Amino acid sequence: MIKKFVACKNCGNKLSKVLSKQVDFKDVDLYTEQPLLEKSCYTILEDKYLYISLWDKWSLPYHQDNSRMIGCCGPYVYGLPNLICASCSQEVAREVTDCCTSHYVRFNLYTIQLLEDSDKFYEKIEKLSISEEQKKQLETLLLYNQIDSFKEQLLILNPFDKTQ
Ligand SMILES: [Zn+2]
Ligand SMILES: [Zn+2]
Repeated sequence: MIKKFVACKNCGNKLSKVLSKQVDFKDVDLYTEQPLLEKSCYTILEDKYLYISLWDKWSLPYHQDNSRMIGCCGPYVYGLPNLICASCSQEVAREVTDCCTSHYVRFNLYTIQLLEDSDKFYEKIEKLSISEEQKKQLETLLLYNQIDSFKEQLLILNPFDKTQ
């Protein structure tokens, strides 16, 4: 099955880990103080929002405006985006970790795109035992279509993988 990932609509930067399963929005529980979704799952609310859980966050630093982090135990449901794209600083999502709601990252659909990891390159990157910084460097090669140098790097980092 082809996995997917969230990318910034403005610059193409990857904004989530690889996602393997779409869950129907009517099957998620917004009102418990638990992660909204299991790892690598996502759900879409109409044509407005795409939700992931916190452990699938990627390349999403907090907005400079601290007032967007206000809540009781964590930022509450309502308010402006508090997460930005690490690459172009576009406001893309709101992290919600308050009490009385579940915990999640909610992307505005018009600021992102859901792309397919059709060559499983991103999945391979995720499985490597390298630093987050090194992973982001590999992803940048893919973003700029440097497939040959990407494969070269991959081979250096993971010489035992014969699936390429
Ligand atoms: Zn609270
Ligand atoms: Zn961006």
